[in-house]
Amino acid sequence: MRKAGKVVVEIKERTREAVRPGITTLELDKIAREVIEKRGAKSNFLNYHGFPATICTSPNSMIVHGIPGSYRLEEGDVISIDCGAIVEGYHGDSAYTMGVGEISKQAQHLIEVTEQSLVAAIGVMVEGNRLHEIGRVVQKIVEAEGMSVVREYVGHGIGTAMHESPSVPNYWPGNSGPKLQIGNVLAVEPMVNLGGPETLTLEDGWSVVTKDGSLSAHFEHTIAILENGPEVLTQ
Ligand code: MG
Ligand code: MG
Repeated sequence: MRKAGKVVVEIKERTREAVRPGITTLELDKIAREVIEKRGAKSNFLNYHGFPATICTSPNSMIVHGIPGSYRLEEGDVISIDCGAIVEGYHGDSAYTMGVGEISKQAQHLIEVTEQSLVAAIGVMVEGNRLHEIGRVVQKIVEAEGMSVVREYVGHGIGTAMHESPSVPNYWPGNSGPKLQIGNVLAVEPMVNLGGPETLTLEDGWSVVTKDGSLSAHFEHTIAILENGPEVLTQ
């Protein structure tokens, strides 16, 4: 899973370098495809339930699962890019959000809070802690800033499949859940909206947007729980 994580890191770095006003999301997808080919990896996104691309590109009010295409990034956009790869049968999954050129202070704050919530969540991923401590920590940080946590989409276990049990909500689900154990690997992925938490799926059947049109950000890491603490496999 460390090997898969390294390929995912390379996809993130290469796409991050390419993000600028004028580039299309399909061009970003091509960069991801090239990295996967060059490293002899496989895509876990391509053809996943029919998903037609190698990464997900979700600008502005789009939360997750955007399909790369003819959309051209514009100065001031907020773009979330979700990347994955399979190496020797094991999966990596990671996402980041960044501004395109100059962005508003509010947008920058949204990005920072979302990333901070993931960092804080990783901090509680220690053997013996309860699974839903992750969501409790994310929700607390996000709501303290007047933002909201998406409920309909959650993190997940990951290993020889991209999505394994358990589900990893980014909010307190009302119970503490099982204890975290050495060897557990989880993809933790807070999705945070400036407005309300409600979502809509567009007619393409994939793109998930905020119902109120507010901006949204998404960060994700694949994290292993080890004896020395959490190891982030995708940074
Ligand atoms: Mg992902
Ligand atoms: Mg994921």
